[in-house]
Amino acid sequence: MLNLERLKNNQPVVYTILNNSLVNNKLAHAYMLSGIKGSLQTETAYLLAQSLVCTKGMWACEVCDDCLRVKNNTYSDVIIIDGSKSIIKKEDVLELQSQFSMTAFEKSSAKIFIVKDAHNMTVSAANSLLKFLEEPSNDVLGILISDEVTSILPTIMSRCTELEFKLLAGDSALSLMNDLDISAREAHYFSQVVSKYLDSDEFLEAEAYLLFKDVFSKFIKTLSYDPDKSSYVLQNILLKNKDKEVVDMALNMFLDMLIVFFNDIIIGREVDELYTNMCDKFRDDYNYLELLTEVLAIKAKLVNNVNVPLLMDQLMFNFRRVM
Ligand SMILES: [Zn+2]
Repeated sequence: MLNLERLKNNQPVVYTILNNSLVNNKLAHAYMLSGIKGSLQTETAYLLAQSLVCTKGMWACEVCDDCLRVKNNTYSDVIIIDGSKSIIKKEDVLELQSQFSMTAFEKSSAKIFIVKDAHNMTVSAANSLLKFLEEPSNDVLGILISDEVTSILPTIMSRCTELEFKLLAGDSALSLMNDLDISAREAHYFSQVVSKYLDSDEFLEAEAYLLFKDVFSKFIKTLSYDPDKSSYVLQNILLKNKDKEVVDMALNMFLDMLIVFFNDIIIGREVDELYTNMCDKFRDDYNYLELLTEVLAIKAKLVNNVNVPLLMDQLMFNFRRVM
């Protein structure tokens, strides 16, 4: 499915606003795509950039050479500043400005910059960006993306037209996944939990997701007959990963998914055979509401500087008591 179709089906309000602007040739100089991660902000940012360079129609065709080069980050006049990988520094913004002060490289005169996780910016970077936004140029379009707009300078927000992306309902997140070649279970993980942390176009390869997926299925498979093994999975696979950020994200996904999983057993949700098998191992044996409550209590204690291995031991201790 093309991103335009996904936008139309899943974010009708955003689609309508942008469509009207394109029809009337009245795009803003800068947009802030806000709302929870995974609700199509990145896809929309690229689609909008493609629409300005694609010559096939008003909206991008998404398949021509120009569109593909934008998608693959090889189109010279579309510049990405990625705050999801590291904090955005003043130099990043200055470099953008100097590139945009030159004549366009490509045949279309449009110059577009996309700032991912725009809240992840130093104060001096934010001030440089603000100056840039205060002197709008007709052929420059800025597209900022953030799921934490409250951390962004109000002066920057006031220079942007905010487009708020609504959380996808479980079902539309599932249908959103249908065009990607993934299992129903991965779509379930994504729509229920992972979309809070990762974008739909990147989550399948993200280290935190892969760690979470591995740990979650091993944990569930062993929990009902050998809780010591489950405990081992948490302590020696999940918490032993060397990258602290990866562990943090995977741990949060794991606890969130555990909550969803117990809830799924209670409501008897069907996902796929393997998931049903995992649920069946538990069915009728335990008090899931109590297990659920234990996970929620542990998750509430998961704050900075807490001793995580100890907290996971506590979770397992409480599980054994309930089970
Ligand atoms: Zn095109």
